[in-house]
Amino acid sequence: MANQHTLKLYNTLTRRKEVFEPLDPKNVRMYVCGPTVYDYAHIGNARPVIVFDVLFRLLRHIYGPGRVTYVRNITDVDDKINARSAQEGVPIRELTERTAKQFHDDIATLGVLPPTVEPRATEHIDEMKTLIEELVAKGHAYVAQDHVLFDVPSMADYGRLSNRSLDEMEAGARVEVAPYKKDPMDFVLWKPSKDGEPSWPSPCGINAPGRPGWHIECSAMAGKHLGDVFDIHGGGIDLVFPHHENEVAQSRCAHGTDVMARYWIHNGFLQVEGEKMSKSLGNFITIHELLDTDKFGGRRWPGEVLRLAMLMTHYRQPLDFTVRNLEVAERLLGQWYRKITDVESAPTSDWADDVEDALADDLNTPGAITRLHAAADCIAEDGETDAPARFKAAANAMGLLERTEAEWRAQAEKRVGVDKDRVSELIESRHCARSAKNFEEADRIRDELAAMGIALKDSKDPKSGEIVTTWEVRASGTWDVAR
Ligand code: AMP
Ligand code: ZN
Repeated sequence: MANQHTLKLYNTLTRRKEVFEPLDPKNVRMYVCGPTVYDYAHIGNARPVIVFDVLFRLLRHIYGPGRVTYVRNITDVDDKINARSAQEGVPIRELTERTAKQFHDDIATLGVLPPTVEPRATEHIDEMKTLIEELVAKGHAYVAQDHVLFDVPSMADYGRLSNRSLDEMEAGARVEVAPYKKDPMDFVLWKPSKDGEPSWPSPCGINAPGRPGWHIECSAMAGKHLGDVFDIHGGGIDLVFPHHENEVAQSRCAHGTDVMARYWIHNGFLQVEGEKMSKSLGNFITIHELLDTDKFGGRRWPGEVLRLAMLMTHYRQPLDFTVRNLEVAERLLGQWYRKITDVESAPTSDWADDVEDALADDLNTPGAITRLHAAADCIAEDGETDAPARFKAAANAMGLLERTEAEWRAQAEKRVGVDKDRVSELIESRHCARSAKNFEEADRIRDELAAMGIALKDSKDPKSGEIVTTWEVRASGTWDVAR
């Protein structure tokens, strides 16, 4: 166990940055709310996936790869799924299977490790029913009109996570409250299914078949795979209330514990070019569109660029997703990959100290990136042979530079559809034009290549003194090659 760096995390529950101490260092346990699968995941959904992947990697590094259990669920029963299935005329199971697969394909491109367990809600209905029956038995839930509801006033400190009092919440609640609720804040644990909706035999002696509410799904899956109390629970900041507050209420009241998870970590929201991302504003982008279509900035973007662009902002800050940030990230990656051209493999456990320090300080990824960049700058000068390998290892800590420089170049070439023979031909013609002192023609050819997205670099061969021309796909909007 590498212990020289104390991990500190900002805990929503205590509203402080705290030293992280796992319940059991041999099995560090983390739950993160995963996607509801009915459509392509959007780039906002990519944020928690990437942020908690960095935390997963850091925990594995500190405690050992076999000593961290990371559970990220798939919500495959939900109102939004039912609505979409009816709208498309596609069976629910087909819709959720298709969308879950799209999600996996998309995030694989972002370089995220698979979680240890990826439970599906529909495979945990029995666990949900057991929890619900326990809550009723303990006086924290009641049956009304074929629904089971959580009795919010039965829990003395409901609202602790989101830091609101019950009075405040009730005052803010909408006037129209379902008649079967005893208190406006009571929330659904189980509800009857309408015709055509997925349904299971109901708990608590209810005759009508029904289905679970959203919050109970996570309590059941977290409990089953991580136990009554575990270390870290994560998700986007929008989930603090009501989703996480209600998960806490269900799990604590059913299990009679003080907390559900000891550290609650939430990522800030993502917006696009300074505006809230929404379908009505026309700035709604899916991960798939970013990777495989020209919708954002008129071109496709590599997954690794998206990943680095996200990590340039601290996870708790709001993130402004812009073409400019993607360009900066792409240029950085291009520069960094050039530093590891000859690295075959990087040490896996030997992270650069200062990068680890930054990450251990509440996942300070912008700080880690600055340090990485400084390390990259030093590589050429110090001439140390293992410096590039160590640099790669430090970048790998954040899931970056996991490919070779050749692979990075190949994907850039594929993106712009480079015809290599044509490029060589043009370079040769330019060479001839220059030899004949026809500089106008030489410049024209350079411009023609530029229009194809190709940048040229001329350098003098130190031995022969001849001019050698190399080329690369230029990073978007940037010409980091001298004319
Ligand atoms: P959902 O499928 O809507 O439940 O969201 C899945 C995850 O993405 C949750 O952790 C959300 O908090 C997170 N999320 C959704 N929208 C955004 C956004 N715009 N920025 C950051 N995280 C988001
Ligand atoms: Zn959840």
